[in-house]
Amino acid sequence: MNGKIFNAIWSVAIAVFLASLLFIMGGLYDYFSEVQEGQLKAETQMVSQGVVLSGMDYLNRLETKNYRVTWIRADGTVLYDTAANSGDLENHLERDEVKLALAEGYGKSMRFSNTLSDKQLYSAMRLPDGSVLRLSVLQKTVWTMLFGFAQPVCIVVFIAFILSFILASRLTRRILEPINSIDPDRPMQHFKEAEYKEIAPLLKRLHEQQEQMKCDRKEIEKAALIRQDFTANVSHELKTPLHVISGYAELLETGLAKDEDIKPFAAKIRAEAGRMTSLVEDIIELTELDNGGSELVWETCDLYRISKNALDSLETVAADRNIHLELHGESSHLQGVSKLLHSIVYNLCDNAIKYNRENGKVLVQVENERESVMLHVRDTGIGIPEDCRERIFERFYRVDKSRSKEAGGTGLGLSIVKHAVMIHKGMVKVSGEAGEGTEFIVSLPKNIRKN
Ligand code: ADP
Repeated sequence: MNGKIFNAIWSVAIAVFLASLLFIMGGLYDYFSEVQEGQLKAETQMVSQGVVLSGMDYLNRLETKNYRVTWIRADGTVLYDTAANSGDLENHLERDEVKLALAEGYGKSMRFSNTLSDKQLYSAMRLPDGSVLRLSVLQKTVWTMLFGFAQPVCIVVFIAFILSFILASRLTRRILEPINSIDPDRPMQHFKEAEYKEIAPLLKRLHEQQEQMKCDRKEIEKAALIRQDFTANVSHELKTPLHVISGYAELLETGLAKDEDIKPFAAKIRAEAGRMTSLVEDIIELTELDNGGSELVWETCDLYRISKNALDSLETVAADRNIHLELHGESSHLQGVSKLLHSIVYNLCDNAIKYNRENGKVLVQVENERESVMLHVRDTGIGIPEDCRERIFERFYRVDKSRSKEAGGTGLGLSIVKHAVMIHKGMVKVSGEAGEGTEFIVSLPKNIRKN
């Protein structure tokens, strides 16, 4: 038992006890002093009467053990003293009590002895003949009184120490019991705020932390599920082209394919291998983004230039389907990762071409705003039904599976877009009427604080 709480309680208890002891002693001392003074005065009056009646005879017969009696003539010479030979004593006229008695009839005073451990009380009375009778008594100081009480005081102090120890141990236990019984998983359980106001903030913080941890756990579990799902989907997506490739390869190997089929079969194998390549490329890109993109290079990028490059590389694909590409806007700079910005524009434009109609149009616009750069990618294609818009950013989600596959889609393009926009702390929205084309709007803050 030498913890902080225990020590604090114990020392407070002892301090309070010692302070009370001193106060009580002080009070008692004052009381006894008053009583003693009163007694001394009464005694002085009594002896004075005796002396008035019988003079020196009375004093010679007087038996005093506790008092010193002095009879002083009006001129200050000592006539009689119980403590010393009266002849040896100096003139007493200058003593306070004697002066007072001569002037007012009665006087008292107090003087410390040389050692300061004791003090002497004097009480003097003027007699009708002008002489003064003085009685004095020894009064103990607080310290001598305490010293005199040494034994009982020691016993009381000892008892107080033991009692304080027991009290402190019990109090410590009572304070700590509910704290130790707190269930860290459910800190607010059994908690009555009115009873334990002092630890309420601690418990509330613990509770909040628990809730935060629960949320974090849920997020981690969700992420693990997504990863599992993703792996299963990847395997599935890879299996199909592999089956096709090995099927055609087998036909070629066994010589079952006719000569005129060899070319189209080889083309099919190449197409499927191409599909696998884009799938693997997309997976690599997404995995990189999943890992937090710590190796990404942040620099000042011009989204207009990046869009121009992306459109240039899609020119032939668009031309194949007679789709017209247009870029509007102006040079717009922002802090970003050029590779990812390119990915955003490329994937959105690739989709705008893939899901467009023959002779359609793709309109890209880059706008320079005060705080952000806006990218609009509008097409005249098949559109996205309202109820699918929430899900198109999910991995491997496709509105029309066969159309996507036919167009060489991997189902990962928009997930990459969403992820890359998030890394730039931006936002992506879809709008447009189903069947009337689609518009993707991306807003990217110009300056983001990287953490
Ligand atoms: P994919 O590789 O299949 O294109 P994405 O993740 O890029 O995968 O897109 C997901 C789905 O969203 C697509 O399969 C398609 O159904 C739909 N989609 C995306 N962009 C467009 C668009 N511009 N017009 C119509 N549908 C689109």
